[in-house]
Amino acid sequence: MSKPGYEHYSKIEEAVKKAFEPNEAEIIEKAFYFAFVSHDGQKRKSGEDYIIHPVAVAKILIEFGMDYQSVVSALLHDVVEDTPVTALDVKKLFGEQVMLLVDGVTKLGKIPLASKEEQQAENLRKLLLAMNEDIRVIIIKLADRLHNMRTLKYVPEQKRRDTARETIEIYAPIAHRLGIRPVKEELEDLAISFLDPIAYAEIETALAEQEPLRKEFLAKIKEKIAVRAATVVNNPKIEGRIKSVHGIYRKMYMQGKNFEEIYDIYAVRIIVDTVGDCYNCLGVIHDMYKPIQGRFKDYISTPKPNMYQSLHTTLIGKEGIPFEVQIRTHEMHRTAEYGIAAHWKYKLGYKDGNNKIEKGIGWVSHLLETQSESGEVSDIVNTIKNDFVSDEVFVFTPKGDVIALPMGATVIDFAYAIHSAVGNKMTGAKVDKRIVPLDYTVKTGEIIEVLTSSQPGKGPSRDWLKIVTTSEAKTKIRTWFKKERREENIEEGKSEYESQLRRNNIHLTDEQHGQLLNTLCEKQKMSTHDDFFAALGYGGIVLSKIMPTIKDEYNKIVRANTESTPKLKASKRSVSQEGVVVEGIDNCLIKLSRCCNPIPGDDIIGFITRGHGVSVHKRDCTNVPVNTKNSAEPERWIKVSWNNGDATDFYASLLLTCLSTKTLMNDIFTSLNLLHITVQSINTRGTKDGRTLVNLTINANSVEHLKSVMVRLQKVPGILSVDRSGADI
Ligand code: MN
Repeated sequence: MSKPGYEHYSKIEEAVKKAFEPNEAEIIEKAFYFAFVSHDGQKRKSGEDYIIHPVAVAKILIEFGMDYQSVVSALLHDVVEDTPVTALDVKKLFGEQVMLLVDGVTKLGKIPLASKEEQQAENLRKLLLAMNEDIRVIIIKLADRLHNMRTLKYVPEQKRRDTARETIEIYAPIAHRLGIRPVKEELEDLAISFLDPIAYAEIETALAEQEPLRKEFLAKIKEKIAVRAATVVNNPKIEGRIKSVHGIYRKMYMQGKNFEEIYDIYAVRIIVDTVGDCYNCLGVIHDMYKPIQGRFKDYISTPKPNMYQSLHTTLIGKEGIPFEVQIRTHEMHRTAEYGIAAHWKYKLGYKDGNNKIEKGIGWVSHLLETQSESGEVSDIVNTIKNDFVSDEVFVFTPKGDVIALPMGATVIDFAYAIHSAVGNKMTGAKVDKRIVPLDYTVKTGEIIEVLTSSQPGKGPSRDWLKIVTTSEAKTKIRTWFKKERREENIEEGKSEYESQLRRNNIHLTDEQHGQLLNTLCEKQKMSTHDDFFAALGYGGIVLSKIMPTIKDEYNKIVRANTESTPKLKASKRSVSQEGVVVEGIDNCLIKLSRCCNPIPGDDIIGFITRGHGVSVHKRDCTNVPVNTKNSAEPERWIKVSWNNGDATDFYASLLLTCLSTKTLMNDIFTSLNLLHITVQSINTRGTKDGRTLVNLTINANSVEHLKSVMVRLQKVPGILSVDRSGADI
């Protein structure tokens, strides 16, 4: 009899044994069984056990040649997000590295007051920050997305379109920037198949109709090229390929071309040993077939920013059918297929200051920098959506650095791509040494020199916003205006701040006001009150997001200013109706706090409130400081305990994460009825990933009783997880 779950592990067992040392394989296996147990009972939308997903993601990463920590993290990548397992648990069992990788791909908890778009932007920012620390995070995330896309047909219509759109707008461009071509193409093709199924089917049909012809055509060319190439180089490897559906789709529907007008539907790839061999082959090929003018590109002498290198040329065969030839070395081929991941697959090392990699992911820190200057998280999403397109032009700085820009970008976009300081001081530009107007559209191969003014006070013009095409340039120009208009921003920020305080009934003396502002500046890393107000003014700090902090600080200030706490008297005790014993105080009002609804058996602590007696919290309630001795008012936190014996009923709040089935509520009520549980309140809401969250407050008479209820609920079909929760939000 094999271990439960083995039928899932067996899907990667062989590959793991082959790719890793026994000690590493052992950790991978341990991670698998940990994930298997953690996800037990959870199902994918396809109805299969949830564990098939992390296993599939791990499998993709093994195929990619990633290291064992990546594979371990792939197996664990959803446990923190979707099960009661915490990041700390992962750290204890699998070490800090794995914990950081898992945490990197884990979405943020629900952000209060944030829209769907803001949530998406914040999550993306978190992902980029994590990948800036460890690039493996994004490779795991891409593999995760790839498997989710492969199984997207099981997901409800709306969610399917949202995911497909996010994939084509965000994740495929990221895969492209990282040079991971097969992943980029598969993500794009899958996304198109869901977003525009009719066009997708048309292209597939067109390709299929020509299949026999195409095979014959490619086979003939390959054979001819192989014979001729072998006369100039050793062991050339010849491959034939068809352009991806999405590649054809883009040319047909976005560039308005006919299927017949797409030259590079057919491509032949020649892989050779040395760079010299590449150019020798090119000579032979141009001798064999007629090259199409203007279609030759030398990405060997000037690699693309994602490290891609090859010679490209388009030729016309005797049949009159155009085809593309790509010529590259074996090393270039690895980079073309695996991009950044090639460094793990071919053990080229990454951490030891690998220049190529640093360049390849330089855009991550660039993007984060631009965003932190502007203060708007949505700028990250906009930049990836608009600027990370496949139709790029490659231009050069006078020093020879390659800059990739989306097609249609102007010299101003170029200047801002170099640095915001260059853009802000720009007065003009030279292209290939000739002065050009500011709205000049740059073309591949041009050398661009930005002319700047050293005159203080020089800045961009508002009209530039109409000229530039990249989100990056737009963001940076707006940022300049925001910052240069400091006085206005300060005024704006101040009045917004003051009106918010009034609206929240926060009234303070001048001295207390100063105190509050000092704390806020410190927390927001602002050096002066004016800096803080200016940031509020141009939106660098969003007031609604820091309101909870303001309220907290206000409460602390007010509490610190109230008269001293009630005196404790020895050998007195109070016992409440609910059975809580407070030592040292007689005759006091005892209340179970509603934020965490403690019940007998819970570890509890008391807080002496002003005028409302002692409120009793669970020790791990979020309103209780971890270390009460170091808290603002240590003397107010007091020991309380349960008076064992007289059990009465208590309220307990549970959070159920459920699949949105039609019979869900019915199933929940039926099982609660069977247990004779009284429901105090029930609230439900949908999540954007199609689940239903149920906030349930019930009567229970002890922790044991509550636990048995939780175990019973866990068995209800459709309920994915059952947790104790705080108050209903
Ligand atoms: Mn996942």
